[in-house]
Formats: sequence, structure tokens, C-alpha cells
Amino acid sequence: MPILLLADHDNATLSDQTAKALTAASEIGSDVHVLVAGSSAKKAAEQAAQLSGVSKVLLADDTRLANNLAEPLAALIVSLSGNYDAIVSAATSVGKNVLPRVAALLDIAQVSEIIEVVSADTFKRPIYAGNAIQTVQSTDAKKVITVRTASFSSQPPGGAPAAVEEISTAAFSSALSTFVADALYSSDRPELTSAKIIISGGRALGSSEKFEEVILPVADKLGAAVGASRAAVDAGFAPNDWQIGQTGKVVAPQLYVACGISGAIQHLAGMKDSKVIVAINKDEEAPIFQIADYGLVADLFDALPELEKAL
Ligand code: FAD
Repeated sequence: MPILLLADHDNATLSDQTAKALTAASEIGSDVHVLVAGSSAKKAAEQAAQLSGVSKVLLADDTRLANNLAEPLAALIVSLSGNYDAIVSAATSVGKNVLPRVAALLDIAQVSEIIEVVSADTFKRPIYAGNAIQTVQSTDAKKVITVRTASFSSQPPGGAPAAVEEISTAAFSSALSTFVADALYSSDRPELTSAKIIISGGRALGSSEKFEEVILPVADKLGAAVGASRAAVDAGFAPNDWQIGQTGKVVAPQLYVACGISGAIQHLAGMKDSKVIVAINKDEEAPIFQIADYGLVADLFDALPELEKAL
């Protein structure tokens, strides 16, 4: 039976998280159907159909699906689940919200945040904030899986586009929840999980004004996304959705620049797969230097303005 991959999108644009989760889904089984559930989401469905390795796109277009609420989306997926061996999603906010509900409704043990597909029923996943890798074999007849996309490359567009099939959304009820509002930090900068370069600040910054004064100008010069440690977020120096780490976002950019971040394991859990890691810290004993490819022992308030000038 085929694999059902839940697409991550905003109705108009398919997130590249889907193309990465598709790589994992294709390793689980060769026949992958992508579910694009949304409202006026035809554009996103057409983009999904372009990805190589997709054999069919299911488009569920319904205003009740406009905002990725877990309740209607899970009900829709459960109504389709009889046709599938595995239900897969990127471990994004949407995937992490919806798939546990699907797993519970189907009475299946979800396998979360896989980083490698060993075989159709066996997967590797990090535990203890990434300090150990667990190999898990699922004995459930049907699998429910979220994918840590930082560990998989994007499946490129290619070949003949897959067929887009509009499916009925009559079968589910959406009475349990209603959408009220999104309170999102809006920015022209690249999105953290897909950025090629990230510059992050820690507690050392001391205030949101200092983030603006020393981190943002360098980010602008580099075309980078901006991240933060949990200490910086908890102190109110940076918005919540900048947080990188075990309880924040997991990223793997080409270049990660950590400024005034000590390198606690919970932070490393979110960025240690970055290709090149640069650390700026005034304490030469800071643990971040153990994983940094390039380390600069310096006061960030001197180093960053100099870097900006040099750039
Ligand atoms: P600190 O540890 O205080 O480090 C500040 C660093 O800045 C120090 O190394 C210091 O030498 C340096 N510094 C100070 N002044 C300067 C200067 N002028 N120039 C240069 N360097 C300077 N943390 C996360 O980041 N993400 C998570 O998702 C996360 N999840 C967690 C989950 C759990 C369950 C727990 C218990 C903790 C979690 N944490 C997480 C918190 C984590 O343990 C650390 O407390 C946090 O990462 C520390 O942030 P920091 O490095 O900014 O601050």
C-alpha cells in the first residue's frame, strides 16, 4: 500500500519541509501520495505534483482546513488512512500538532522525528537532546511517522507532474475547535528552518535593542535568518519563534554563527548538524567551542560591528 505524506504549506506555497519529508517517505515506500489539505490550496497542490517521487496528490479543499487545525485535519487523515501503510509528515509545528492526534485516533504508537530510514518498519531517531540515537522498530501494521527534515535533503522537482485528485471533505466534523487568530512575527528575513545562513544570539546580548544593534545588521549583510538561545528568548530579548534547540527549532544551515551562546546541550540539539559552525564567545572554555569549526574568543560587542564593517 502507498505512503500518505501530509504537505506543509500556506495554501499558496508548498514549504520545502515537504520536499525533505518526501525523501524520507520515498525510502519507506516507493508509492507516495501527498495530501494537500487547505482552502484554495490548488497552487500548493500543483507544486507538490512537480516533486519527483510523488505518484499522486490528494487535494482536500475546504474552508474548515484553511488554518491547519489539528482536529479537522486529523479527522480527514484518519478517514483516508485505510488506504495507506504509513502516514508521514515533516516534524513542523503542523506535523507535530496533527500526527499525534492521528496516531491516538488509530491507536498506533507514533515514531517521532526520524533522522534515518533503516527499513520500512525500522527508523533512527535522536533521544536525550540528540546525545544518543535510538533505532526503533515499529510493530504496528500501520505507521505514523514525523521526520526531522534537517537530516534529509529535498526531493527536487522533476519528471512528469503527478495527477492532482480533488477528494471529498464531507466525511469529517470540525466542531471541536475554531480558528481565532494567528499572532506571527513577520519578517523579510529567510525562514529559520530553510535558511542557508543563521546568526544567533544568546543571553550575552542583554536586551532586544542589542539584538537589533549588533545581530540584525550582520544578518542583513549576510542575508541570514536570526536565531536565539532559549535564555535570550525567555529574557524577552528575542521572539519565541527564533528559539533554536531541543524545545525550539531544529536547523541545519550551511553556516551557523553563534554569538554569546554557551553551547548547552539543549541548544546544540537544535543546530549541531549545521555544516559550518562559527562561535563568538569571550570565554575560551565555553562548550560551544567544542563543536565549532571556527571559534573567535572575543567580546561580541566588538567583534560583530567589526564583522559588519568588513562585510
Ligand atoms: P548562557 O548559558 O548564560 O551563556 C551565555 C554565554 O555568553 C556565555 O558562554 C558567556 O561566556 C558568553 N558571553 C557573555 N558576554 C559575552 C560577550 N560580551 N561577548 C561574547 N560572549 C559573551 N536552550 C536553548 O538554547 N534552546 C532550547 O531549545 C532549550 N531547551 C531547553 C529544554 C530544557 C528541558 C532545559 C532544561 C533547558 C533548555 N534550554 C534550551 C536552556 C539551556 O540549558 C541553556 O540554559 C541555554 O541554552 C543558555 O543560553 P545562552 O547560551 O544564551 O546563555
